Amino acid sequence: MSKWVYSFGAGHNEGRAEMKNLLGGKGANLAEMASIGLPVPPGFTISTEVCTAFYDNHRKYPDDLKGQVDAALKLIEKAIGLNFGDKSHPLLVSVRSGARVSMPGMMDTVLNLGLNDETVEGLAKAADDPRFAWDSYRRFIQMYGSVVLGVDHHRFEEIIEHAKLDANVVEDTALSAQNWREVAAGYKDLVHQETGKPFPQDPQEQLWGAIGAVFGSWMNHRAITYRRLHDIPAAWGTAVNVQAMVYGNMGEDCATGVCFTRDPSTGENMFYGEYLVNAQGEDVVAGIRTPQPLSIGVAKPGEIPLEKAMPAAYAELMDVRAKLEAHYKDMQDMEFTVQQKKLYMLQTRNGKRTAVASLRMAVEMAHEGLIDEAEAVMRVNPSSLDQLLHPMLDPKAPRILLGKGLPASPGAASGSVVFSADEAESRAAKGEAVILCRVETSPEDIHGMHAAQGILTTRGGMTSHAAVVARGMGRPCVAGAGGINVDYNSQVLSAGGKHIRAGEIITLDGATGEVFVGPVAMIEPAVSGDFGTLMKWADKHRRMGVRANAETPVDAETARKFGAEGIGLCRTEHMFFDPERILAVRQMIISNTEAGRRAALARLLPFQREDFHQLFTIMAGLPVTVRLLDPPLHEFLPHGEHELQEVADSLGTDVASIRKRNDELAEANPMLGHRGCRLGVTYPEIYEMQARAIFEGAIIVAKETGNAPHPEIMIPLVGMKKELEITRAQVDKIAAEVFAETGTTIEYSVGTMIELPRAALLADQIAESADFFSFGTNDLTQTVFGLSRDDAGKFLPQYVEAGILPKDPFVSIDIEGVGAMVRMAAVKGRATKNHLKMGICGEHGGDPASIAFCDQVGLDYVSCSPFRVPVARLAAAQAALGAANDRTA
Ligand code: PEP
Ligand code: MG
Repeated sequence: MSKWVYSFGAGHNEGRAEMKNLLGGKGANLAEMASIGLPVPPGFTISTEVCTAFYDNHRKYPDDLKGQVDAALKLIEKAIGLNFGDKSHPLLVSVRSGARVSMPGMMDTVLNLGLNDETVEGLAKAADDPRFAWDSYRRFIQMYGSVVLGVDHHRFEEIIEHAKLDANVVEDTALSAQNWREVAAGYKDLVHQETGKPFPQDPQEQLWGAIGAVFGSWMNHRAITYRRLHDIPAAWGTAVNVQAMVYGNMGEDCATGVCFTRDPSTGENMFYGEYLVNAQGEDVVAGIRTPQPLSIGVAKPGEIPLEKAMPAAYAELMDVRAKLEAHYKDMQDMEFTVQQKKLYMLQTRNGKRTAVASLRMAVEMAHEGLIDEAEAVMRVNPSSLDQLLHPMLDPKAPRILLGKGLPASPGAASGSVVFSADEAESRAAKGEAVILCRVETSPEDIHGMHAAQGILTTRGGMTSHAAVVARGMGRPCVAGAGGINVDYNSQVLSAGGKHIRAGEIITLDGATGEVFVGPVAMIEPAVSGDFGTLMKWADKHRRMGVRANAETPVDAETARKFGAEGIGLCRTEHMFFDPERILAVRQMIISNTEAGRRAALARLLPFQREDFHQLFTIMAGLPVTVRLLDPPLHEFLPHGEHELQEVADSLGTDVASIRKRNDELAEANPMLGHRGCRLGVTYPEIYEMQARAIFEGAIIVAKETGNAPHPEIMIPLVGMKKELEITRAQVDKIAAEVFAETGTTIEYSVGTMIELPRAALLADQIAESADFFSFGTNDLTQTVFGLSRDDAGKFLPQYVEAGILPKDPFVSIDIEGVGAMVRMAAVKGRATKNHLKMGICGEHGGDPASIAFCDQVGLDYVSCSPFRVPVARLAAAQAALGAANDRTA
C-alpha cells in the first residue's frame, strides 16, 4: 500500500523539512516546526504524489486515499478533542495548497471548513460568541464559494458592502452576529443562484471538494504561467494541507499576522511584520484593513503594535523567531494566529527578499556565525546583483511628485502608464518600458508584472500580493499609494489635481515609495560594503577567471572597477566607427588595389596604436585578448549622398564609381559572408596593420611602466586550420618586424575563436596552431542552430512561449546542442595540447546557468560585459561550490 497522507502536530510528525518534494514546502515545514516543539495546530498533508497520480489517472484519486485521509482526520480529532461535523462543538479545518516551491500562482486557501447551518449554531454556543461563529461561517462560504465553486469573489464583497451600508458602519469588525447571519444567508443564495445548487452542507463533501480544488488549481492559468516563468515542471505537483483551525477572529484578544525574522526589503536584522486584531488569515494580505506593526520600536503615532496589545504572545513570537532562524539558518517568513492570547504558528518558509536584503543577510549571517562564507556565497542569486548595479534616481534631478505609497520593492523605473497586465505584456514585447498601474494585483497579473519595469498599486500593504511578487521578481514597486486614484474606465491616474493618461510617463522610486510625473534622471548606484565582502568571498571560491568584453577606455575602467581580471574580447571593429577614422576605413574598403588599402590603413595605424596603448595601460599586468577585425565589410560602407561624395572626393573619383563598388561588396548573407579571418586571408594588410598597432602599443606601455603587457591576439571565424596558419603567420611576421625595429621583445600569444561547427569538430587539428581557444558562442549558436542572430528575435519568443526551447539560446547556452559542441571542442583541443587555455566570450559569459556549464566543461575563464562582471564572479564561485537549487533571492 502506498503512503499518501502524512500527519503532523500533537506529537505525531511523519514529515520533515527535507521532504519538500513529497509534502510541499508548507507541509514539510509544518511538520518540522511541530517536531522542534513549536505550537502548531495538528493536521496532515496529502502528498504531491497524489497530485501526480490524480493527473496521470484521468483526475481520479488513488483507491486507498480516502481511508488514509479518514484515519489522519481521526488523529486530529483525538488531539483536539473535537469531532469533524459534530453539531454541538465541531472541529473545523483549513485546507491549503503547498507545492515544493512557493507559488504565488496558487492562493487557494479555505478556512473554517466543516461549518454548515447546524454546526455554526454549535460553534456559537460552544464559543459563547455567535458573532464569531457567523463571521466564520460567512468567511467559509465566501472562500469555498470562490475557490472551490468558482463564484466571482467580488459578488461576495458586494453583499458585505451592502450590509455595512445598511448597518452604517465602516469596518467589517463593526458588524454584529445578526449582520453576519444575514450576510451568510445572502452568500448562500448567491451560491445557489450562480451554481444552480445549494451550498454543500455535508462536511465530508466540503472536505473533498476543497481537496479537489487544490489539485485543480495546479492546472489553472495563473499557476501554469508562474511555472512557465520560473521553469517549474508540471510533474512536481502540489500537496494539500488539512489542519485544525485556530481562530484569530474570536475577539479582541485574538489576532493574525505575518512576519519576517529580518527586514525583507533592507535585510536589517530587525523583527518585521504586521498583524490585525480579530481577523483571519487572508485579511492581512488582502489589504482590506490596515495592518498594525509588531514592535513598539517601529510603531508610528496612533498605531498599536502587537508588543503592546498582546505582550505575552509577542514575547512568545520573538522566541519562535530566534528558534526558527537558528534552526533553518536563514531568514524566515512566518504566519501566525493568536487565539485568546495563545500563539499558534501556521507557516514558516525561507522568506523572499530583495537583492539588497539578500546580500546584506548573507554577509551578516556569515559574520554572526549562523552560516559560513561559502554558504553566504551560495545564498545570493547572481542575477539579482544586476539590480544592485542598476540606476537609482538622481537626488539632484528635478521632479514633480504625483503621490506616495509604500516602498515595497527598491529600485527606480520610468515608463508609460498601462492599466492592465495584458497591455503591459504586449507593449513591453514591442520594446516599450511600461509601469503597470493597478488598484491591487492578483495572481492573474503575474505576466504583466513580469513584463513591466515597475509596478504601482493604490491598495494593499507591504505583504500584499503586489509587494511580495515584485520583490521576488526584483521589480521596483510602490504599493498602497492611497492618494492616487486609478480609473480603469477612463484610463487615467490622478492625484492632487494632476491627471496622467495611459501611455504618459511616470517614474517610481521603490525605495521611498514616491511616484513622479514624467521621467526623472537616474544615477549609477553606490555599491555597498557588503557587496565588496561577498565578492571577496566569491573570489576565494571560484576556479574560473572572469574577464570583460571591452574595447573603450571607459568600458575597460568600469570592468576593472567591477573586478575583471583582464579583457577576454576586444572587438577591434568597434574602434573603427569613430568619425575621425571612418573615412580612412571607407577608403580602405572601397579601394580595389592593395596599395590603396595600405595607404588608408597607414592613416588608421596611429589611432589603433593609441587605442591599445590606453587599453594595455588600464589593464596593466592583466591579459588582454584583442580580436582582429571581424565584421562584414559592407557595415562600413558609405550611405547617403554626403558620405558617398566625401569618400569619392577623398579618393579623387566620382560618386558613381563608389556606388558601383558598394554594389560589388553587398552580400546576400553577410553573417556567413566575407568577415572574420576571411578578411585577413584575402586582405592580409588589414591584420598586419592591426598586429603592428598591438605590438607597438604594447612596447610603449612596456617602456613606460616596465611592466610589459601580454597581448593575446585572436583570430575570428576560423573554420579551417589553414586559415589560422595563414593569419598567424601574418602576426608573427609583424611581431618580428616590430621587435627588430624597436629593439624590444615582448611575450604574446595567438589563438582562435571557436565559433563555427567546423572549428569545433576539428578542434584537435586547430589546436595545433592555436595558443588558446575562446568560444564565440554567439556565432556558434547561430551556426549550430542555423538561426540568424539578426532575425531570430522575430520568432524565438514564440518558441520559448510554446516550450519548444526552454530559454532563448542567445541568452542562456543551449547545453544539449551548442553545449555539446563546446564540450567536444574542449576535449579535442586539450587532447592536442594538455594545457590549452580556453575561455568563452559570447554573451553567455555573463549568464549564470551558462557559467555553471563553462565550469563543468573546464574552461579557464569567462568574459562578459563590464556590468555583468560581478554576476559572473559570483556565478563562477557558485559553480565551483556546486550549484544550489534553492536560491531565495
Ligand atoms: C561570438 O560570436 O560569440 C562573439 C563573441 O563574437 P561576435 O559577437 O563579435 O560575433
Ligand atoms: Mg563571433
